[in-house]
Amino acid sequence: MAETNSQRIRLGLVGIGKIARDQHLPALAADDRFELTATASRNAQLDNVPGYPDVAAMIAGGHDLDAVSLCTPPDGRYEQAVIAIDAGLHVMLEKPPATTLTEIAALADRARAKGVVLFTTWHSREAAGVEPAKAWLQGKRVDAVRITWREDIRRWHPGQEWILAAGGFGVFDPGINALSIATKILPDPLLLDSGWMDVPEGGGSPLAAELKMRSGNASVDVVLDFLQTGTQTWDIEVDTDTGTLRLGMGGSILHLPGEEQQKAPDREYPRLYARFAELVAAGESDVDVRPLQIVADAFMMAERRIMAPFAF
Ligand code: NAP
Repeated sequence: MAETNSQRIRLGLVGIGKIARDQHLPALAADDRFELTATASRNAQLDNVPGYPDVAAMIAGGHDLDAVSLCTPPDGRYEQAVIAIDAGLHVMLEKPPATTLTEIAALADRARAKGVVLFTTWHSREAAGVEPAKAWLQGKRVDAVRITWREDIRRWHPGQEWILAAGGFGVFDPGINALSIATKILPDPLLLDSGWMDVPEGGGSPLAAELKMRSGNASVDVVLDFLQTGTQTWDIEVDTDTGTLRLGMGGSILHLPGEEQQKAPDREYPRLYARFAELVAAGESDVDVRPLQIVADAFMMAERRIMAPFAF
């Protein structure tokens, strides 16, 4: 591993799929602190960037990498991260950071022992309304929280069979974004009381779920649906002693009581890479597993119901 404090971070991007193309590549291209040096993907390649079929081959390619950013599906990322950490590279993980809590704890230990940075990203926390929402809630009494995440799997994840396989998280793949925001803006932990999830026959992960939770004295009701056609909803409402805060469009629109709604350009991924650069410069990891813990709680406690088979 090379010294990175005063140089550009030579980065290998892993898993060239939808999110890599939509968000990671533009964010990297706009950030001088990074140099996209190589890619690893089983099939996909980029023009003008050396491409390899997997992380080990990319590292062996002689590019003197400093870091990798993993944009593959969560199942399999543990092995990719281990190879990178063992090679002395800093690692940035797409959400969800791993398929199990033990995997991410093991990665954190391994990164610490090796002296490299591990960053579990939660892109929705970087949405424009989230930080101001957290600030506004400070010191207020929270009475109730309603989370509604309804989207169409066929529209946003066409053909992504992995998402409904075991370890793909199903509707919790988008739902964990809501939980990442809730765990950031609410002062108290979210504790699960009950819930259910609908798993398609022959599938490994749910297409719909509802959770009843509490945070301090507030009730937290979560509705997740992956079969929503028509209007798509990614909303969080927080009732407080001074009115209801509304976060819409995945945290990007903030509506505070008595105020005009606030909206700002999407800077989620530029902010994630800026944070990664800061962490690398400081030699610090940022590993927050709270959203994943809630999903694990749901998979332990919620009633599983079998629904009709699903096909894309
Ligand atoms: P995707 O379009 O399926 O892309 C993932 C890429 O990883 C694939 O194109 C594939 O490229 C590679 N890959 C490696 N191992 C794989 C495997 N076992 N199964 C399938 N693909 C494999 O998925 P994505 O939507 O980019 O999502 C990737 C991660 O980003 C997920 O954790 C997701 O939660 C997160 N994310 C997605 C979005 C979104 O809007 N889609 C938004 C934010 C975060 P090769 O065939 O070349 O190997």
